Amino acid sequence: MPHFCDVAVAVPLDMVFTYAIPPGIELIVGGRVLVPFRQQRMSGIVVELHDRPPKVKTKKVIEALDLSPVLDEQLLKLGKWIADYYLAPVGEVFRTMLPLSAEFKRSVMYRITDDGRMALHLAGMSGSPARSKRTPEQQLVEFRVLDYLAERESVREERLRGTTRVGKALLTGMVRKKWIAREDVSAAQDAARLVKVAVLRSAETSTKKLNENQRTLVETLAAAGGRVLVEALRSLDVPRTTLSTLVRRGLIELVVEPQDLTTPKLKPRQSPFEFEFSAAQKNARTKIGEAVASHKFAGLLLHGITGSGKTAVYLACMREVLEQGRSSILLVPEIGLTPAVAADLHQVFGDEVAILHSGLSNAERAEQWHRIRRGEARVVAGTRSAVFAPVSDLALIIVDEEQDSSYKQEETPRYNARDVAVMRAKMAGAVVVLGSATPSLESYYNAKKNKYTLVELPDRVEQRPLPEVEIVDMRQEFQETGQEQVISRKLADEIRERLEKKEQVMVLLNRRGYSPVVLCRACGKTLQCQNCAVSMTHHKRERKMECHYCGHVARIPDKCAHCGSEYVYFVGTGSEKLEELLHGMFPQARIGRLDRDTVRGREDFEHALNALNEGALDMLVGTQMIAKGHDIHGVTLVGVVGADMALGLPDFRAAERTFQLLTQVAGRAGRGQTPGKVILQTYFQDHYAVQFAARHDFAGFYEKELQFRAWMHYPPYSAIANVLIRSEKLDEALTWSGELGRWFEKTKHEGIRVLGPAAAPITRLKRDYRYHFILKSPSREKMNALLRAMLAEAAARKIPRTQVIVDVDAVWLM
Ligand SMILES: [Zn+2]
Ligand SMILES: [Zn+2]
Repeated sequence: MPHFCDVAVAVPLDMVFTYAIPPGIELIVGGRVLVPFRQQRMSGIVVELHDRPPKVKTKKVIEALDLSPVLDEQLLKLGKWIADYYLAPVGEVFRTMLPLSAEFKRSVMYRITDDGRMALHLAGMSGSPARSKRTPEQQLVEFRVLDYLAERESVREERLRGTTRVGKALLTGMVRKKWIAREDVSAAQDAARLVKVAVLRSAETSTKKLNENQRTLVETLAAAGGRVLVEALRSLDVPRTTLSTLVRRGLIELVVEPQDLTTPKLKPRQSPFEFEFSAAQKNARTKIGEAVASHKFAGLLLHGITGSGKTAVYLACMREVLEQGRSSILLVPEIGLTPAVAADLHQVFGDEVAILHSGLSNAERAEQWHRIRRGEARVVAGTRSAVFAPVSDLALIIVDEEQDSSYKQEETPRYNARDVAVMRAKMAGAVVVLGSATPSLESYYNAKKNKYTLVELPDRVEQRPLPEVEIVDMRQEFQETGQEQVISRKLADEIRERLEKKEQVMVLLNRRGYSPVVLCRACGKTLQCQNCAVSMTHHKRERKMECHYCGHVARIPDKCAHCGSEYVYFVGTGSEKLEELLHGMFPQARIGRLDRDTVRGREDFEHALNALNEGALDMLVGTQMIAKGHDIHGVTLVGVVGADMALGLPDFRAAERTFQLLTQVAGRAGRGQTPGKVILQTYFQDHYAVQFAARHDFAGFYEKELQFRAWMHYPPYSAIANVLIRSEKLDEALTWSGELGRWFEKTKHEGIRVLGPAAAPITRLKRDYRYHFILKSPSREKMNALLRAMLAEAAARKIPRTQVIVDVDAVWLM
């Protein structure tokens, strides 16, 4: 056994740490190890075993946690590539790749002691506690902690700190004073998993009065002995609502119980999934199949307009891969994993599929990870981090809606799962398919440059016609009606017509809440978040003001916070107000709303879409969420009330995003052979993003947008990085960004443009003041070398690593 090991520990430092290996401990590269780090014990990943004694005195490894690697050679290599490409600490990259924190993380709990209760009691009486070195502010926090704990058994540290905003030092002080007690709880104790089981109430249930779906469900349950996991029932081809109806009628009971391995699971049905393909779909499938068969890296861009049947192509290719005994991964955007796709996956792949979505707990995520690693699931579908699934013999990765910004992680490591997927496929000699109706400029450009093979699906399935798009100029509407309108006369007429014909309508306004701005007419100031330089949004039903950037909540003001005037006005319209307006205009219509306020989880999302599909709603109002539902069958009218607001933002991707959103939402119009109609209200009617979207002209838009990108040296012609310097103290943010600005000035950086320092468009966010630099270069290597030198300079100047954010291939520059 070598004497030393290099360990990647999940801390914000761009380095690995060397430890001595005591006799008797067997380590493996790619396995986890427990090591002392500062005052703590931390787990890390062994990246190298060697015999090179380091110059400084080393600490000893405490214990090995794995007998075999949790990251195989390929994933280790991929992690190092991510650390290098995105300039992220390698330990933090590995932590992101492994959803195993639930396994060895110990949680720390706090509870109040008798002394603490006494202190609280004394503080409640008149006369303050004896003289103290603590500031009044610190004492306040202490009593907030005691108050909070007094009402509870014990509280997890994260929760306590999050709620009371108490600092670590103050907590330790309180433990020392014996006001509170600290205990370590092994995570295993609360990992006992609960599951939902459907139980048939009576075996003799008459099935006469049931409809077909209900009968299928009841019979399935009866056949399985009257008890089946609710999750397993989802693979049946019946709507979710069927189960709830039967529960309401008392035929089925839902019970929650600890997972019992003897609970019967449904056997996967013999795949009845038959694909009937158009010529274009067949061609796409053949091209992908041939690439897979070659066992070499290949990239394909599958450009298929909305409704062209991309998903069926994905599933057929993945099934073929599975039949060859190899593995595949399907990546979908956050909200994209709707029940239709999940049900299809279950139907085609039975137990061979692992679905990783954001609703999973840490323990469930770990369980799925082990299933995949054991080879029990060779088909993986999931959001961003599924790109790290530990499958063996990877043959195919598909990235659906590859342009979606949810593939970019907005915290360290700031990787883009689409680009990581391409790199993983390269390392594995696998095939990567990027699918989209509106490919990103970068991917489309790569296809044009023959880096990817371009495969087109130019028609909607069954030759369904594309919707007609009519633009309504809202400036003209204002001139003609003399007032600011939310819903134009044209849109109102069209909605009325559809409702009379009992057809369905969808209205998009990409902004949630009731009113986005509170304005004082006396002094002209707006109500800003106390943590961010951002307007607070009024939420009427929940009677609060909310910051959409940090979540801060405040009460609704009756006076101006600046001048005390009572003339405060709520300005602008969000989706909540739009719903109310439409209710007023069409009192008979049944209207649903889909945005982050009405949708708390995947179930709410499914529920709203089911209601629409089953005809329980006439109209659905919402943010971009409504543009993304995979299983919206289409409505005959789509109204776009505010989708072009982004065009006013200082962001070079604004036109691209707007074009994509408009195209997506327009794709929802049209049901069966009935062509749909889109009414597109805009204040930017001459903007090319609006014009090309209205004409369904992708090629035209890309052509025009590429000219702009070339002219401005933006991607795909330049690599771009956003360097953000942040601090809660304004003078620190200014000093640090000034220092780095001067360093950039005097450092040679030929072929790299450095803009800044400048105040970020959002100058204050989550209490931090923010300054930034934007770097552009045709040479990624040069740019990353400069960034690395900048980080070294920042470290030498003692600027904390966590306050210098490097965002390579930044998606948002705000
Ligand atoms: Zn005022
Ligand atoms: Zn805020």
